[in-house]
Amino acid sequence: ETEATDSLIRIMPESLANKIAAGEVVQRPASVVKELVENALDAGARQITVILKDAGKTLVQVIDDGCGMSPADARLCFQRHATSKIRTIEDLERIRTLGFRGEALASIAAVARVELKTKRAHDEAGYRVQIEGGRLIAAEPCATANGTSVAVRNLFYNVPARRNFLKTPATEFKHIVETFQVLALSHPEVGFTLMHDDVEIYRLVPETDPSPAERLRRRIGTLFGPEYALQTIPVEETTSYLSVRGFLGRPELHRKSRGEQFFFVNRRYVRHRYLEHAVTSSYEQLIPEGTHPFFVLFLELDPRHVDVNVHPTKAEVKFDDERGIYGVLRAIVRRALSMADLIPQLTAAP
Ligand code: ADP
Ligand code: MG
Repeated sequence: ETEATDSLIRIMPESLANKIAAGEVVQRPASVVKELVENALDAGARQITVILKDAGKTLVQVIDDGCGMSPADARLCFQRHATSKIRTIEDLERIRTLGFRGEALASIAAVARVELKTKRAHDEAGYRVQIEGGRLIAAEPCATANGTSVAVRNLFYNVPARRNFLKTPATEFKHIVETFQVLALSHPEVGFTLMHDDVEIYRLVPETDPSPAERLRRRIGTLFGPEYALQTIPVEETTSYLSVRGFLGRPELHRKSRGEQFFFVNRRYVRHRYLEHAVTSSYEQLIPEGTHPFFVLFLELDPRHVDVNVHPTKAEVKFDDERGIYGVLRAIVRRALSMADLIPQLTAAP
């Protein structure tokens, strides 16, 4: 027997590998919204429209006015590990974009019917690519606006187990709204529209105030209600290691659930229990036990101090000095609360 036939191991066809990888990146319609909107933001979009049918099960479409792609890139972007965002391992250590794994479009296209239309401002015509279950159906010039539109239909049509695993439309829609809110919060200067079954759910104008804090305050107000814009305390502090800016809810805004706490690290939304505790514990005595404060905080630090590559959806990050950040963050939050006369001024040690 030759070596070749005496082998049980097979390299998977790419379509199978993509379908399996999709399981990590694409859990539900909200994951598609996240990946497509992040791509639009990375493309420098100023206006992003999200269109849904049946809570995204039938359609998730994201239209942006960003940089667009060449016809060659419009085909390439669906290949696994295809990215314009990093080229070397050093790039990964100074990552500034939301994406970099080059997996989202390949994964989504493996488990749905996808139509992409794209055009760069200096191109005369646009380009259209249609892919179903990872198979290229069409690629041809087309008429389209500057920017990119990606329509994802019948998510998981070829993965029945996944499709059946989806929750009720109300639950899937709730996940999408949460995802949308997070993305809209992270970029107040970008206009966002959310349409669901032809009903306009959000129309967020691009915030143009010259002050970033004011832009964020306004975006908070339009997303969560005017009381949120009023009952917040601004935070802005920079140390040699990190800068923190954003808003802390006044104690009146405390809630029973943790759902209104937003941490962004280098503009990427992350969940981080330990850092959340740094903020929440600063409200001790200010809010009833068992309730949670509202906050929107942006941490900026040298990307070398953060590892964003610990989770496929990048929902978790690791810092090289978590205890250090915890301490700094807590001090900054305590100071902001005391300046708002909510807690006694800290007296300096003699
Ligand atoms: P990643 O974002 O990690 O690079 P994706 O699979 O999400 O991987 O996208 C692959 C590539 O396709 C991106 O690196 C980018 O060059 C291009 N691309 C995707 N979406 C857009 C878009 N909306 N506008 C312009 N280019 C895009
Ligand atoms: Mg991406």
